[in-house]
Amino acid sequence: MPFEFQGKHVTVAGLGVSGVPAAKVLHGLGARVTVVNDGADERARAQAAELEALGITVRLGDGDTLPDGTELIVTAPGWKPTKPLFTAAGQAGVPVWGDVELAWRLRRPDSAPWLAVTGTNGKTTTVQMLASILKAAGLRTAAVGNIGVSLLDAVTGDEQYDVLAVELSSYQLHWAPSLRAHSAAVLNLAPDHLDWHGSMEAYAADKGRIYEGNRVACVYNVADKATEDLVREADVEEGCRAIGFTLGSPAPSQLGVVDGILVDRAFVEDRHKNAQELAEVSDVNPPAPHNVANALAAAALARAFGVPAAAVRDGLRAFTPDAHRIAHVADVDGVAYVDDSKATNTHATEASLAAYESIVWIAGGLAKGATFDELVAGAAKRLRGAVLIGADRTLIREALARHAPEVPVVDLDRTDTGAMLQAVQEAQRLARPGDTVLLAPACASMDMFTNYNKRGDAFAQAVRELGA
Ligand code: ADP
Repeated sequence: MPFEFQGKHVTVAGLGVSGVPAAKVLHGLGARVTVVNDGADERARAQAAELEALGITVRLGDGDTLPDGTELIVTAPGWKPTKPLFTAAGQAGVPVWGDVELAWRLRRPDSAPWLAVTGTNGKTTTVQMLASILKAAGLRTAAVGNIGVSLLDAVTGDEQYDVLAVELSSYQLHWAPSLRAHSAAVLNLAPDHLDWHGSMEAYAADKGRIYEGNRVACVYNVADKATEDLVREADVEEGCRAIGFTLGSPAPSQLGVVDGILVDRAFVEDRHKNAQELAEVSDVNPPAPHNVANALAAAALARAFGVPAAAVRDGLRAFTPDAHRIAHVADVDGVAYVDDSKATNTHATEASLAAYESIVWIAGGLAKGATFDELVAGAAKRLRGAVLIGADRTLIREALARHAPEVPVVDLDRTDTGAMLQAVQEAQRLARPGDTVLLAPACASMDMFTNYNKRGDAFAQAVRELGA
């Protein structure tokens, strides 16, 4: 339904990556925009000055009071639903949209359909693989959402697209009630961000919104029943199909793997008898099992959009993953050093550890309330040793003592800049030729590093010093 912004009182909640462009776009559409922001630091003041120069009102240091006369709130996706601002909005009957909802409402009538991806882990990788496949098919596309081009730019800018590959977080989905994708995938569901959503059920329900109103395909993970349940619960358009992806042999209406080949038994004539070869597992970079799953999800969405099989293969071959996601740094004395600094939770680390036979594991940092028993018990047989760093390393050490008492553990009681070099040296000492030294911390990095990028860079630098 078109929304008339002219003269409307719109409150933008939160400056920052989504708030500033949203305020500008709304102002350009004739809305009377007030931005409210909790903080008032230097960056916020600079952004406020930029917006005020355009005639936008900005209130710094008060993100909790609903400005008088507000008719719509457009919020930064990270703002918690329990904030007083939203309680006040609820009482006043004021609708709340997130950045994705705004983009969805502002898209032109002839604008490109969305192929959407969410999940606890693998979103960025899958969306980039999907964009690569769509490009290989000659389509004008972009990977948008948390990555690359902003969604708002993609739908309101001059660039013409045939289709968009859209990454969506659970927060964004929470605030996007009217989004209707062409097709969508939920890659996996593991507890994450529960403090924000309130419960696992609420988190799953927000992820499940991605399937609402899908036209062609709801893509789910056969190995993760919760994703299939979400498809069942979704209200989709007549004729929309449930398509599974699996690392095993695919049933009809699934994509899967047979003898090292990615195979489509969903988008083929007579799927009960036929299958279409798409690509080889070795075309997936890196060919770790969870990444093959990502490739299958991307392929399913592309096939739902009508992309030919050859483009799936070409697109996967052309894809290179972002840094710090199972990045092979170097081989030193027959030992591979792999940087998966982006594995900031146990679910991602579980996938990472499953990808190698014999591992010296570098882990630790900020646990964010996670427990490590299941992770360690599952990986115990593959561990040659472990080197623990960071604030919450004791939690991992205790889990190792319980489930892998034979595995040698080095506990590094330092958080200075030299700590990573020592961690890598200790790992080298524990490793045997043929092993993999894997940085997959299962924790956030901020106790020792600015972010996971810096942590991965420190690891790579340390590995280079080993080889020097
Ligand atoms: P996201 O955008 O969801 O954070 P990324 O593609 O950036 O996902 O990958 C984040 C981390 O999750 C990486 O460390 C990677 O090893 C791990 N990962 C990627 N895909 C999967 C998957 N399908 N299942 C589990 N872990 C995964």
